[in-house]
Amino acid sequence: MDLLTPARTWAAVENLQKLQGDSHAPARMPAVQRVVMFLSVVGPFVGLIAAIVLLWRRSPMGGGIGWPEVLLMVVMYALAGFGVTIGFHRLLTHRAFETSRPMRWLLAIFGSSAAQGMAIKWVATHRRHHQLSDREGDPHSPHLHGEGPLAMLRGMWHAHVGWCFEADRPALARSVPDLLADRGLLWIDRLYFLWVGLGLFLPAVALGLYTRSWGGFVSGLVWGGLVRVFLMQHVTWSINSVCHVWGGRPFNSADHSTNNFPIALVSLGEGWHNNHHAFPTSARHGLRWWQFDATYVVIQVMSRLGLVWNVRQPTASAIDAKLRAPTKSVIDI
Ligand SMILES: [Zn+2]
Ligand SMILES: [Zn+2]
Repeated sequence: MDLLTPARTWAAVENLQKLQGDSHAPARMPAVQRVVMFLSVVGPFVGLIAAIVLLWRRSPMGGGIGWPEVLLMVVMYALAGFGVTIGFHRLLTHRAFETSRPMRWLLAIFGSSAAQGMAIKWVATHRRHHQLSDREGDPHSPHLHGEGPLAMLRGMWHAHVGWCFEADRPALARSVPDLLADRGLLWIDRLYFLWVGLGLFLPAVALGLYTRSWGGFVSGLVWGGLVRVFLMQHVTWSINSVCHVWGGRPFNSADHSTNNFPIALVSLGEGWHNNHHAFPTSARHGLRWWQFDATYVVIQVMSRLGLVWNVRQPTASAIDAKLRAPTKSVIDI
């Protein structure tokens, strides 16, 4: 299985589907990809355990966590996080603003270092989520698993992490022709494991050099790398699970999306998910002044610096019109 060239891999999968007949039923993921996925999900969790052990062993000789570790984790979280929210999501998926090719590639590289999958597949999956939100074919809806608390629990597990282990069927040529036409982006996807590796290795080297010790190297790898990946993966996946179940729904979108303040804070603004489903192409998800949206703040700064332009957001009257739209009795999906 050629893991490094998703375009070719998925083309093969699509041909297979044509032969087998297309259906929305989840298919089994090839074994090699399942192993890579397992390592991507469990590896950061092992890092979290290592971090707890390091904290436990805190002593004047080392271990534990200090300001250098915290700073490193925050910086790495911001770089990879905005790579996902500004790059993968608001730019590549929804074209909420325009930018230069080098900036587009840089954002895609930062996003790749979050270890949430290759850019093109991430976008194809997310576009499908918007097309089929909480309906048959949505890759990660918590609502398609039956009635009752057990079914809900199963749905939450599927929406959070279970879906990662099902072979999705992104009809690539149909859903992401704009990305497939960008050779730079194809190369960035081919080098995906390099970006993930650098995201783990660079903080390790930074802290190793700063403390001039192997202990610092390990601490940098754990806090700036693995724990940061773990936190960000679960925050991002919470948008799929939590933000389709718990929270406010000011807009009556044809799905179960919600606005969730705590998730919005830790996800750099992505938790204003009901707003986002109402206005998918808006660069601004926190539509009210009190809805803090860190990603939009950075986009605004980039706009002032001339790094991005044609930043899209709905007018006040468009927002009001959608808020006043008649409420559907039950979202029967
Ligand atoms: Zn959603
Ligand atoms: Zn979206």
